[in-house]
Amino acid sequence: MFTKILIANRGEIACRVIKTARKMGILTVAVYSDADADSLHVNMADEAIHIGGSPSRESYLLSEKVIEAAKRTGAQAIHPGYGFLSENADFCRMCAAEGITFIGPPVAAIEAMGSKSAAKNIMEAANVPLVPGYHGDDQSEAVIKKAADDMGYPVLLKATAGGGGKGMRQVWSEDEFSEGFAAAKREAKSSFGDDTMLVEKYLTQPRHVEIQVFCDNHQNAVYLFERDCSVQRRHQKVIEEAPAFSMSEELRAKMGESAIKSAQAIGYQGAGTVEFLLDIDGSFYFMEMNTRLQVEHPVTELITGQDLVEWQLRVAAGEVLPKAQDELKINGHAFEARIYAEDPNNDFLPATGTLDFLQPPVESEFVRVDTGVRQGDEVSVFYDPMIAKLIVWDENREKALQRMAKALSEYRISGVTTNIDFLYNLATSAPFVNADIDTGFIEKNQALIFHENEQALAGELPMAALYLVLSQAQKAQTIAAKTNDPFSPWNMTNAWRLNEANIHHITLAHNGTEYPIVVEQKRQGSGSYYLITVDGQTVDCQGRIENDTLYASIDGYRSHATIAQNNNQISLYHQKGVFNFTHVLPDCGDNTGDDKHGGLVAPMNGTMVSVLVKAGDSVKADQPLMIMEAMKMEHTIRAPSNGVVDAIYYNNGDMVDGGAELIAFTPEDA
Ligand code: ADP
Repeated sequence: MFTKILIANRGEIACRVIKTARKMGILTVAVYSDADADSLHVNMADEAIHIGGSPSRESYLLSEKVIEAAKRTGAQAIHPGYGFLSENADFCRMCAAEGITFIGPPVAAIEAMGSKSAAKNIMEAANVPLVPGYHGDDQSEAVIKKAADDMGYPVLLKATAGGGGKGMRQVWSEDEFSEGFAAAKREAKSSFGDDTMLVEKYLTQPRHVEIQVFCDNHQNAVYLFERDCSVQRRHQKVIEEAPAFSMSEELRAKMGESAIKSAQAIGYQGAGTVEFLLDIDGSFYFMEMNTRLQVEHPVTELITGQDLVEWQLRVAAGEVLPKAQDELKINGHAFEARIYAEDPNNDFLPATGTLDFLQPPVESEFVRVDTGVRQGDEVSVFYDPMIAKLIVWDENREKALQRMAKALSEYRISGVTTNIDFLYNLATSAPFVNADIDTGFIEKNQALIFHENEQALAGELPMAALYLVLSQAQKAQTIAAKTNDPFSPWNMTNAWRLNEANIHHITLAHNGTEYPIVVEQKRQGSGSYYLITVDGQTVDCQGRIENDTLYASIDGYRSHATIAQNNNQISLYHQKGVFNFTHVLPDCGDNTGDDKHGGLVAPMNGTMVSVLVKAGDSVKADQPLMIMEAMKMEHTIRAPSNGVVDAIYYNNGDMVDGGAELIAFTPEDA
């Protein structure tokens, strides 16, 4: 076995490889760019070598620099991770020339899979099923169009040099062919410098099912079952699972054996993934082979109990495969969700920024977080904005999915926009739960996942309001416990009021609309219940908060939600999806003790738009006093009770800091 390896990568996959190497007693060398000087993978490795500037082409893509670093540190082997140099045949050749082991397949295998049409020729000869189509040398439009006409529309044109969905065009009918052909060629030329095309039958509801294979240099080959990666956006995977749902043992074995045949056809060694399209009738077709470790390999690890990086290192060191086919079993079900810094509501635009607050869910035998960042780290413009992979396991799909929803609801990130809410909505949507999934999943279920339709808030507004009053009561209790007089009536939280109903006025905003809410706290034995009125509808609520979870009963309907609160932003992760609210007014029923003289404070930074009263005015409870504007939304400051305005501290147009006192106010009964 090697005593020292270099990892030619960064981020979560570099950290992932280091963990296994460490477990096996192998020393590790990291390489890093300017931007990564203080990154986690550099910290974790035993040694680290700076290889250049922040853009990948000035560092992680420079074969010479990486090899130089290996030579300088005496690393005997290089793990390329995924992306960067992992499928670069020239790099692989350079390693061999320097006597450094490339932890991956032989050069010839990488080259064989580099062209989609060459790969198809090899697979055809090995009797691996292909999507019907044409992948010949004659590139005249007439020949390719004839192939399309013969198999019938729709068809898919693909650039043979393609990747990442580029140079691909669907053609739905004969008369669209010419235009689609020209467009696909143009895109292929500009992306890959090569406009060679192939054409395939376009399957309208396929699943993406891929098989993990492993081969050693002793003629052994096994498959570690399948992963379903059908949920994709722009041909990029979003959530993966293993095993695939509704797979018969027979189909699993057939696909597994086909995958092994594909690998053997190219003299494969190490970890590889054979991607298939699985049609509704159970036919499956070879799509491509990825000659590296995949991003989603952890789901396979969790259902097989194997460490695939360890397997890679053993195979590269010339050992035999750790397990034979009949020793491999599927245990339970696993999901992986890719946590990205991106804005799903803006076409998944990558986001950048500092991870001001980062609190992943607690790891356990059920929950694993593979990440390359810590709180305070930067998500920069230079690399893929993946923050982490969240991987969960349980004994069946349903339970594993519940683990996923829970873990997503507990993932706290602030400072950058993330796709966590999007993933939560996706993972809890009925079609996903029911495994009604094909590669068109996100497009088909947009309304559900993006909440384009106005969310029905009948239950969630009272829940959010209930959360606010309960958490205020908790705060008050904590303060009371700390004072000298815990029995003071001012510190009681059980709705005690002298000659007055205990009424809280709360305003919550959702998607730009403000909802005034009235909460009346009622005593019941030693506890309380609440009458919550929204839009003239009153519901009877009870609840409690434990850790981050609100257990609520709304008119007798019991449910619970995980709550994340960040200043005045409240997110409610409910089984119906995630609901985001802004608390726009300080709760005037607050008795936490910091507002005794009745002054009213600005709920956030903003501008004073309108002052509606003057000093000396007598006002009625709930009467609007001022209007502020912040983040393009108006917030009305209202009288907490009947009383008198003593002084006004701001004029129209003034900038106001959040928390600044706006008005001095004396309640009528004071
Ligand atoms: P790339 O190498 O550009 O990623 P692939 O050939 O791997 O392209 O295909 C990417 C995705 O496109 C697949 O996961 C699948 O969703 C879709 N796809 C590819 N071929 C077909 C086909 N013949 N019919 C329907 N969908 C397809």
